[in-house]
Amino acid sequence: MINRTGNFLFFVLLFFSIPALSKKVVNDITKLNPIKVSDVVMPKTISELKQLVAKHKGQISIGGGRYSQGGQTACENCLFIDMKGLNRIKYLDVKNKKITVEAGITWREIQKVIDKENLSIKIMQTYSNFTVGGLP
Ligand SMILES: Cc1cc2nc3c(=O)[nH]c(=O)nc-3n(C[C@H](O)[C@H](O)[C@H](O)COP(=O)(O)OP(=O)(O)OC[C@H]3O[C@@H](n4cnc5c(N)ncnc54)[C@H](O)[C@@H]3O)c2cc1C
Repeated sequence: MINRTGNFLFFVLLFFSIPALSKKVVNDITKLNPIKVSDVVMPKTISELKQLVAKHKGQISIGGGRYSQGGQTACENCLFIDMKGLNRIKYLDVKNKKITVEAGITWREIQKVIDKENLSIKIMQTYSNFTVGGLP
């Protein structure tokens, strides 16, 4: 019994002592850049995003797909805003090939919709799972 409890406590402590496994650590695709942030939030609407920004006193960092590879998406003790919740298509004009989207949408999500209209994205980076807002 003590052994089982001891093992359980050991794994709980181990989990929280490894920064990459803890909830409030933001990393990128390489997993080489764990950054401790004050909080991680994922707004689902623009008004939610506005409220978060308005009420936060310190620095703010933003991430999309987090495929960048140098820790560019986060900063120490900053509030981290995960933009992937803002992924809606706001407007699509098939005739004039114009689209308005929220910044957290991925190219893949856009392609899935415009595919049905026999359209495709003309230029993007290597991967379609990058977000529009993460575009360099
Ligand atoms: C396998 C691989 C292939 C790649 N190929 C290419 C390539 O062909 N061409 C190329 O240019 N790059 C490439 N990259 C680099 C990079 O991942 C991409 O440039 C991509 O745009 C990152 O998109 P993301 O959504 O992951 O952005 P993230 O990595 O999440 O963010 C990138 C930067 O944009 C900022 N950002 C993110 N979202 C927003 C937002 N909504 N508003 C304001 N700022 C925001 C972040 O703070 C960060 O500084 C590649 C990376 C990998 C791992």
